[in-house]
This record gives sequence, structure tokens and C-alpha cells, in this order.
Amino acid sequence: MAQPAQHVVVLGAGTAGTIIVNKLRSRLPKEQWRITVVTKDDVHDYQPGYLFIAFGTNTPAQTRRSARQFLPEGVDVIVADVARVDAPAQTVHLTDGQELAYDQLVIATGTTPRPDQTPGMLGPDWHGRVGEFYTLDGAIALRGALEKFTGGRLVVHITELPIKCPVAPLEFAFLADDYFRGRGIRDKVEIVYVTPLDGAFTKPVASATLGHLLADKGIVVETDFMIEEVDQEAKLIRSYDEREIAYDQLVTVPLNMGADFVAESGLGDDLNYVPVDKHTNRSTAYDTIWALGDASDLPTSKAGSVAHFSVEIFVENFLDAIAGRPLTHSFDGHANCFVESGGGKALLLDFNYDTEPLTGMFPLPKIGPMSLLKESRANHLGKLAFRYVYWNALLPGHPIGLPAHMMMAGKIPAEPA
Ligand SMILES: Cc1cc2nc3c(=O)[nH]c(=O)nc-3n(C[C@H](O)[C@H](O)[C@H](O)COP(=O)(O)OP(=O)(O)OC[C@H]3O[C@@H](n4cnc5c(N)ncnc54)[C@H](O)[C@@H]3O)c2cc1C
Repeated sequence: MAQPAQHVVVLGAGTAGTIIVNKLRSRLPKEQWRITVVTKDDVHDYQPGYLFIAFGTNTPAQTRRSARQFLPEGVDVIVADVARVDAPAQTVHLTDGQELAYDQLVIATGTTPRPDQTPGMLGPDWHGRVGEFYTLDGAIALRGALEKFTGGRLVVHITELPIKCPVAPLEFAFLADDYFRGRGIRDKVEIVYVTPLDGAFTKPVASATLGHLLADKGIVVETDFMIEEVDQEAKLIRSYDEREIAYDQLVTVPLNMGADFVAESGLGDDLNYVPVDKHTNRSTAYDTIWALGDASDLPTSKAGSVAHFSVEIFVENFLDAIAGRPLTHSFDGHANCFVESGGGKALLLDFNYDTEPLTGMFPLPKIGPMSLLKESRANHLGKLAFRYVYWNALLPGHPIGLPAHMMMAGKIPAEPA
């Protein structure tokens, strides 16, 4: 049978790439459009699960699946690493020598923790006394390190923004408080939260709420800390302005960066993120290239929720673009983030490019059942239930009843702190 005339290549089969190929396969005629997805391995992790693995409340088996399992019939799957994109020639080069010519290219290769970018981080204590929970291996190792920890100073540290799920280190600090209380040793553990920001979070209103929670739990916050190095011998982190913070256990979020091939292809910014129009996810340099999810430079949180909402908008615009029509849909930067706060509760933040997190109920005005910008048990249960929704509805591209745009009905601005 003759190959379809048009070819869309999707790089990455994580949250964004998987939803995209599922949605595009059902919307693009098979006889006209071939779809190829490239993934560097046959692994799909539910990354929010890493946080719970570190505290022993989730297992790796609940968190990892085969990537192929979620990719639909009628899509060519190539397991290989991307070496380079030749954008003028509309060709992707893989490290195994294969070349893929494309009509449209979607870059959805996410962002990766890069401990190699901070001097001293990858020393002998890496994944021991210097822990992380942004990879499955790191979360498993950290679980062991926390189990052995009997007291001293635990430092939770962010290297630089942006990071994926910017609330995850806060959640880690809250859950650490809970975890040591549960073990009856909280009075022997000092928890210090070290951030390059001037407050707890990137959004001022949420930062005030989350900052209060840190204070209530006796977690010390060290702001404006730009790390220069980890000194594993002296067991301390040092900043460019010569501040030193000693640790007995460090839990760091290393610098996050987009894929190296993005830089090698001349398509990225300083951190290898692809500059895109923030309302359409189309590359600002090439009309045939789009970047979705964490791989893009969208000025909103790098989060699974953003990947999901922006893909909904992208699919409509992509269909417009290939039909030669002007793009008719506009992404508003909508992000929706659960924040585990310990004690079986969580907060929920809902915001977009223009609107700070508001108070009110979610997803139904006045009914909820989730409350915004406030701790509740329903929010915690919502966060736990989301893993099931992710595997069974979100990844296969089914509607999950959450609007892509931020809804204002029933929402109220928070009182100033
Ligand atoms: C600890 C933690 C907690 C989190 N909690 C939440 C949360 O509660 N809520 C939330 O919304 N988000 C959360 N996130 C963030 C969320 O997981 C990501 O934002 C989301 O997965 C982004 O989707 P993506 O498709 O852009 O990237 P990913 O899902 O990371 O997928 C990228 C894919 O590209 C592939 N790839 C990379 N480079 C190459 C290459 N060179 N060649 C081929 N393939 C390549 C990778 O293998 C991967 O499959 C969390 C993340 C972490 C680490």
C-alpha cells in the first residue's frame, strides 16, 4: 500500500507526546497522514509518583508502565534517541543513523534533571546523603536514605527555576515534616527549605499561603540562594554570595534542562527550551515545528496539567494549520497543581498567565468537591485518584471533564496576606 502523502513526527512519548498521538490519530485521516512517534526508551513514568515513592507510600510498579502500551494502532513507534533536527530540511536525525523527513514536527521531549551542571553535586554521596526525587532511581534511593535518617538537618534545595512541578519540593518538605512526626523523631530533625526565589513559590498569592504553612510546620526558609557548589566533604552547599548551609541529608532538585538535541539543532534557549508562541505552541522560528509540554518555553508552570490543557488547544490549531486556515484557538497558560501539605491534606492551585491562584471550589463552582488555595482532605484524595485518571483516561486522550481554559465562575481573589 502506498504511504500517506503527509508525515507528522512527534518526538517524546511522555505526557504531552502520548496524548498528542492519541488525539491526532483519531482526527487525521489515515490515508493522508502518517504519524511517527520517537521515544528514547519504552518507559512511561507517572512522575508525580516519585514524591510518594521517596516516603514509601507508592511503589515503583504503580509508577512505571511501557510507553507503547498507551500509543494507539496506526502510529509508527521508533525507540531511539534524537540526535538533531535539521529544521530547514525538515528532517530528524536519530543517533542510530535513521533519518525521518517530516511535514510537521512536534517536540515533546520534556525536561530532565541535570546534576552534572552543578559542581560537586555528582560526587560519591550522590543518591545517598545527596538525594533527589526527580527520577525513579533517585526516589528509590532517597527512600532508603530517609529510612536510615535518625536526626540532624535535612535540607530541601532547588538549584534554579524553572523546574517541572515547581510545588514538588514544597510538597517534599511538608511530607518530610509528616514523615518524621510519624516516626516520632520530628524534634530531632531540622528541616530547611532553600530556594533561589524570594519566597516559597513563583506566584505571590500562593507564595504567601505556602510560606505560612512552612512556618506553621517549623520549616526554616532560606531565600535568594543561588548555589555555586555542593561540598560533599564538608557536607554543605555554598552560594555565589558566599553563604554556606550545612546538611546531614540533602534533597536537591538539580537544574532542569530541555533535551541536548534541541541545542544542537539551534532550536533552543539557554536551557534548551524551544521558544514558542505562548498561545499556540508553534515555534517562533519555524511554522512546521511545534513544542508542547515541558520542552517549550511557555511562561507558565512546567506541569502535566499544562501539557494536557495546551495539547487540547494545540490539536485544534494544528488542524487549522494543515488545512491552511488561520489558527483559531488560544491557550491561556492554565495550570492546575495539587500541593500535598501533610496530615492527609492538600491544597489546589488553579491559575493562568494573567490570573493569580484564586480561592473558591473546583471543578464545579460552589460544589467542588475540591477547594482552591486551601488545605482539604478532598484535595488530597483528588491527588491520589489522579494516578488512575492519568493511566486510564488522560494518556489515551479521553475527555476527563476539566476545561482547558481557566474558568472564573465562583472563584474569588484571595485576601492579601
Ligand atoms: C517529582 C515530580 C512530581 C510531579 N508532580 C506533578 C503534579 O503533581 N502535577 C503535575 O501536573 N505535574 C507534575 N509533575 C510534572 C509532570 O510530570 C511533567 O510536567 C509532565 O510529565 C510533562 O510532560 P512532557 O510530555 O512535557 O514531558 P515528559 O512526560 O517528561 O516526557 C518527555 C519524553 O521525551 C523522551 N525524550 C527525552 N529526550 C529524548 C530524546 N533525545 N529522544 C527521544 N525521546 C526523548 C523521554 O524519554 C520522555 O518519554 C511532576 C514531576 C516530577 C518530577
